[in-house]
Amino acid sequence: MSEQIHKVVIIGAGPAGWTAALYTGRANLEPVIFEGEAPNTPGGQLMITSDVENYPGFPEGVLGPELMEKFKAQAVRFGAQVKSQNITKVDFDASPFRLWSGDEEILAHTVIISTGAKAKLLGTPKEAELMATGGGVSACATCDGAFFKNVEVAVVGGGDTAMEEANFLTRYASKVTIIHRREEFRASKIMLERCQNNPKIEWALNKTIDSYETEKVGVGVLAKDQLKAINLKDSNTGEISTLAAEGCFIAIGHAPTTELFKDILETDETGYLVTQPGKAATAIPGVFASGDVQDHYYRQAITAAGSGCMAAIEAERFLESKGL
Ligand code: NDP
Repeated sequence: MSEQIHKVVIIGAGPAGWTAALYTGRANLEPVIFEGEAPNTPGGQLMITSDVENYPGFPEGVLGPELMEKFKAQAVRFGAQVKSQNITKVDFDASPFRLWSGDEEILAHTVIISTGAKAKLLGTPKEAELMATGGGVSACATCDGAFFKNVEVAVVGGGDTAMEEANFLTRYASKVTIIHRREEFRASKIMLERCQNNPKIEWALNKTIDSYETEKVGVGVLAKDQLKAINLKDSNTGEISTLAAEGCFIAIGHAPTTELFKDILETDETGYLVTQPGKAATAIPGVFASGDVQDHYYRQAITAAGSGCMAAIEAERFLESKGL
């Protein structure tokens, strides 16, 4: 058992975790950040994105993995200790808090949770590859919509996210088809009507994605598969039809990574960790949550980074108030 009690332990290394590590590092709190290992993705959702054009400070854009490398390097420069391990169990009943990575026990005066969320995917063949290489599949219209100017795209889902993404995409795409597996929608009436009244939006109802059709584009090391069409399967008849689309946005919901904190921390009705209004503090003093694990609304790298900063400042003040 480890005798050392860390001042700050950070779980999860996306924009929120690295920012929390940077700030607590610069505050000389010697943070230890557990960046995780497979099946978790060190670096978070940006590791499975290509170009990021909406992160301020990068006028030419930046690759998601490159941006995360920079986040990491900056945190390490200020003393963050990085552990490429998963936290597998936590006990927040008493201070110092106890965490485990397998058999290894870790003690901490404060814990910052930044385990993120994952977009749910369909699991269709080629989907993950097309997403990772910028080949036309995405789970974030705000991030990737601008790559689809004057081409036809599709959005999958029948909830508010799908409606919001579809509407947003009409700013760029020549046509947006919403693919939904039934005729009834979970989306709120107002969001649905906005799409129904948008002349650029078409509907493929009672349809699921059967497969993607791709075409090789680029040469040499830049060669990649690019989405060209989606084969749709009718939910009732099983009939296959083809929809031309260079982009496919999967909007079937997100799942926050909260299994570790089940029955320990409060979650909202959609499973996200609850923090105090406008704060990173959870109901347990000394335990903070930042980034997408507690935000189902904005879900952006920049907002996650901002909330990592909030968690770090709150942790620092908490430690100070306890004389630690
Ligand atoms: P939802 O769970 O509301 O909707 C998910 C949609 O994806 C459903 O239509 C569902 O179909 C479909 N779906 C799920 N799995 C599959 C699958 N394997 N194949 C095909 N389709 C699938 O998620 P959202 O992300 O849309 O919304 C989450 C929450 O966030 C909601 O409470 C929503 O109101 C809120 N939100 C609010 C916004 C706003 O107010 N501006 C914007 C975005 C989200 P089915 O209906 O058949 O189950």
